Amino acid sequence: MITIKEKSDCCGCNACTQVCPKQCINMIEDKEGFLYPHVDLTECIDCGLCEKVCPVINQNHPRKPLGVYAAKNTNEQIRLDSSSGGLFTIIAQSIINQGGVVFGAKFNDSWAVVHDYSETIEGLVAFRKSKYVQSIIGNSFNKVLAFLKEGRKVLFTGTPCQIAGLKLFLRKEYENLLTIDIVCHGVPSPLVWRKYLAESLLSLDQGKKTSCANINDINFRNKDKGWKSFRFVLNGLSGNKKIGINQPFSQNVFTKGFLQNLYLRPSCHKCPAKKFKSGSDITLGDFWGIENTLPKMNDDRGTSLVAVNTIKGEVLYSNLALTSVKTSYKVALSGNPPMEVSVNVSKNRDRFYDDNLDYVIPKIKKYTKEIWQSRIKRYLFKIAYPIYRIIKNIAIKLLKR
Ligand SMILES: Cc1cc2nc3c(=O)[nH]c(=O)nc-3n(C[C@H](O)[C@H](O)[C@H](O)COP(=O)(O)OP(=O)(O)OC[C@H]3O[C@@H](n4cnc5c(N)ncnc54)[C@H](O)[C@@H]3O)c2cc1C
Ligand code: SF4
Ligand code: SF4
Ligand code: SF4
Repeated sequence: MITIKEKSDCCGCNACTQVCPKQCINMIEDKEGFLYPHVDLTECIDCGLCEKVCPVINQNHPRKPLGVYAAKNTNEQIRLDSSSGGLFTIIAQSIINQGGVVFGAKFNDSWAVVHDYSETIEGLVAFRKSKYVQSIIGNSFNKVLAFLKEGRKVLFTGTPCQIAGLKLFLRKEYENLLTIDIVCHGVPSPLVWRKYLAESLLSLDQGKKTSCANINDINFRNKDKGWKSFRFVLNGLSGNKKIGINQPFSQNVFTKGFLQNLYLRPSCHKCPAKKFKSGSDITLGDFWGIENTLPKMNDDRGTSLVAVNTIKGEVLYSNLALTSVKTSYKVALSGNPPMEVSVNVSKNRDRFYDDNLDYVIPKIKKYTKEIWQSRIKRYLFKIAYPIYRIIKNIAIKLLKR
């Protein structure tokens, strides 16, 4: 039976909950805002299935991709509407066109991030774009299984640990299943996201209690000023008045906390599925550093990094109509270390969560600012200390004369 001793030993993939024959595992949110399994011992029959499907307990060996590409969707509008080069949409469209089903992460009515599926091209719009919040998987793996058994083609997309959890949950290979994971920095807390949204709306609205229902659109990766200068954009209404946020990603409070690893899921600092251990057919990311490595593929509107990991992925990829240039894994890795390495935990993470989080925005500002201050101090120390040593040595020599 599954027991979580260390928080970092659960990535929240929900595989155990969905496999349990007694349905006696509940996912409960902890004080940091992440879901963890809790077993009802009175119902458990000790069958051990929950442990067999856990991607943290059953990790695969690291792999290297079969081929690596820099690629762009040839539909300019879709590429601009996507976070990277719009590769997710082109692959998802090909699955829908074959009568298939596509699973991905979308915002629900309360602007929480959840996994869902679509059987139409229009339905793919909701999955487009990166949402920097952990998505709630819910019952998606059981739905995937039902579609696979009907003989439908299924594309499941998500984080590497979600793909690893799905594959273990299914317990056998299905010819009609294709999986795509993203290169994954880590996922921020859904609780911090909820609080950030509520507090932002309150201040935008000068206390009139605008609710999430008044938000029209949220884009973590708006490209109006370019792919590399991406912005966090929120648009909404307070009565008839337009309200919104439009800030560089590095300056928005929520995304700054994300970049400084202040409230990532603990498992993200010890990721069980990096190095292509997820078993996915294709991995998608941003081709960071492309301006130096493949400048002809760089137009600052988004270029995807595509790692093709299996023969099934290779067959699908070779039939897509897109702009694609083959490159080496080494070149791709040089701009994107999160493919292999987990990010470090912020030294302020514990202090942040131990603080009173009734209001998160001032606390995120406090603990991210402190990090910058200490970095500046460290930097100044690096410059000042050698100068101090030189002056000290000169003074000693002068005194000895
Ligand atoms: C939390 C997170 C961290 C990331 N970290 C990196 C990184 O360090 N380096 C890097 O190169 N790329 C990273 N990416 C991936 C990158 O931002 C793009 O999502 C990816 O390149 C696909 O882009 P696209 O243009 O093909 O499709 P898009 O349309 O931009 O992306 C849509 C795809 O992303 C999936 N997705 C969106 N949000 C989530 C979510 N919260 N959980 C699971 N799946 C989601 C959708 O299901 C869909 O498959 C990250 C994405 C997320 C969500
Ligand atoms: S051991 Fe079996 S019954 Fe008990 S929680 Fe795990 S899956 Fe459910
Ligand atoms: S990683 Fe997934 S399967 Fe393992 S305990 Fe957590 S939710 Fe359950
Ligand atoms: S960093 Fe690893 S554990 Fe965290 S969400 Fe991504 S794949 Fe899962």
